Amino acid sequence: MKPRIQGLEKYKTETTKARIRLSSNELYLDLPQEVREEVAKELAFAPLYKYPDPDAKELKSAIASWLKLPSEEYLTLGNGSDELINYLCASLGTGTVSYPVPTFSMYEICAKNNLRKTAPLRLDENFELMQAPPDDSDLIFIARPNNPTGNLFLKETITALRARDRCIVIDEAYYPFCKESMIDEALKSEDILVLRTLSKIGLAGLRVGILIAPPEIIKLIDSVRLPFNVTMPSQIVAKIIISKYSYLIDNAVEIAIKERERIESYMKNMEGIKVFPSRANFILFKVLVGAKALHKELLKRGVLVRDFSENPYTPECLRVSVGRAVENDIFLEALDSSLRELV
Ligand code: PMP
Repeated sequence: MKPRIQGLEKYKTETTKARIRLSSNELYLDLPQEVREEVAKELAFAPLYKYPDPDAKELKSAIASWLKLPSEEYLTLGNGSDELINYLCASLGTGTVSYPVPTFSMYEICAKNNLRKTAPLRLDENFELMQAPPDDSDLIFIARPNNPTGNLFLKETITALRARDRCIVIDEAYYPFCKESMIDEALKSEDILVLRTLSKIGLAGLRVGILIAPPEIIKLIDSVRLPFNVTMPSQIVAKIIISKYSYLIDNAVEIAIKERERIESYMKNMEGIKVFPSRANFILFKVLVGAKALHKELLKRGVLVRDFSENPYTPECLRVSVGRAVENDIFLEALDSSLRELV
């Protein structure tokens, strides 16, 4: 048997054990005891012997009101936005898939899984787009804010990419931390689509991704979507939190934004690193004394951050996720003492 796809690498994530894990851009959501009990009760009585609702109607309706969409016809759900990225590559266009580099690695993986040609678009030193997509590019992914760089591409930069027979997917996984959205554009036009996720707002374990687009596009994606892709427990828990307790998410996000500002200002004054400004819940920084060595020193002190130094577009760079205040304090202390050791 000859494999259809060759030479693809598995999605990389940090699996090293550590006391403080600041490597996956999760958001800590402290659910009060009463909310946990309510969720536990709903799950205890859920008819788990049955298949889940293939259209996740109740959850979609809760999400449509939460996001103020005209109706649930404007969205579909995935097992995380990763699954939706794969469907988009499978069903929108046949030409080259483009994305800025560096960016979230799943765009390339999913494009290649679907035997699409790929075009990485180079960024300049301020992480602004400096290369145009090839003419045959009919699908473009733009993470806004971008991961791992943390910057927000200008709306004008994105609208300049519009062309006939081309779809632009705006991945707003980190929207809550910058609050600049292109959902309004996505509701009006068929060539701009928006992705959101519950993963960066405290519910990564549920695996719920959201695609927002006009009903015709949603129907197309639903036609390739696996029927029971969002599990019953995920539908139940997400519906309760989104419809009744979204203020808990808003509070956690506000705390994370303040923590990001606090960490950023500390880090800016440290010798041996260069910090890139961030609009997300993580910070990318260049290590002037060796990223691998610093990564190791931090681990020795119990802190795991994400090593991006092997990525050709982020040489000597590490990325730290914004954690809880206590975790951030431990990180800052570990960073300070590690740098003093290395400088
Ligand atoms: N988009 C971006 C830009 C991301 O950084 C990530 C996760 N790191 C995702 C999507 C994946 O989201 P999900 O957990 O919903 O699959």
